[in-house]
Amino acid sequence: GRRFFVGGNWKLNGSRASIQELLEAWGKADLDKSVEVVISPPAVYADFLRANMPAEFGLALQNVYKEGSGAFTGENSADMALDVGADWVILGHSERRSIFGESNELIGEKTAYCLGKGIKVIACVGEQLEEREAGNTQAVVETQLKAIAAKVSDWSKVVIAYEPVWAIGTGKTASPEQAQEVHASIRAWLSKEVSATVAAETRIIYGGSVKPSNCAELGKQEDIDGFLVGGASLKPDFTTIINAQK
Ligand code: 13P
Repeated sequence: GRRFFVGGNWKLNGSRASIQELLEAWGKADLDKSVEVVISPPAVYADFLRANMPAEFGLALQNVYKEGSGAFTGENSADMALDVGADWVILGHSERRSIFGESNELIGEKTAYCLGKGIKVIACVGEQLEEREAGNTQAVVETQLKAIAAKVSDWSKVVIAYEPVWAIGTGKTASPEQAQEVHASIRAWLSKEVSATVAAETRIIYGGSVKPSNCAELGKQEDIDGFLVGGASLKPDFTTIINAQK
């Protein structure tokens, strides 16, 4: 079976004090040990978080560049992520695509670099509202997937996050049926374009306004194998989402 995966993407939020407070609150909860939990803080706090959070939690950077080092002002690398104990990176997040202009091609290059270095990838895909309304959800998601899949040799190191852009930070969650439909189509695409085994084993997680009140229903869907949580991962009751299947 696919191990349930719950990621917390803190985006550009947090401070040493707020992180300490949050970890203290989470420490009081009884967590479902069968769940893989991965937290993604701003890169400057990665080292601090690794030192202070439970050893069984994974650590992800929110982005890295496609080179290990050099004259790339403002960037972080997969090599540096590994050096501070991060085992994952998020790539292709819609905020990277839309605010920072990242192309499918660049995301593919980053995917190749990271997997080559042995860091696991949370690869994000998702359509904008106009694309959904025009009936293009599947085509958009497949184009994004294709650019990533072309660079993946070991699918056991990849989690796909389906994040419909219109549901991110808006409070408008995709309904369980809407999410399930796209997750099933992603799995069918993997089966056709990669292999039946990869389709059966790859985790496809949902992101977009996941909260304690909607996580159980979403998590019950056959092809939803976890979540990538933004705003709600900065709160004490993020543990309710970790325990969605408990
Ligand atoms: P919200 O949970 O804040 O909608 O963000 C989702 C997201 O972008 C996670 O990567």
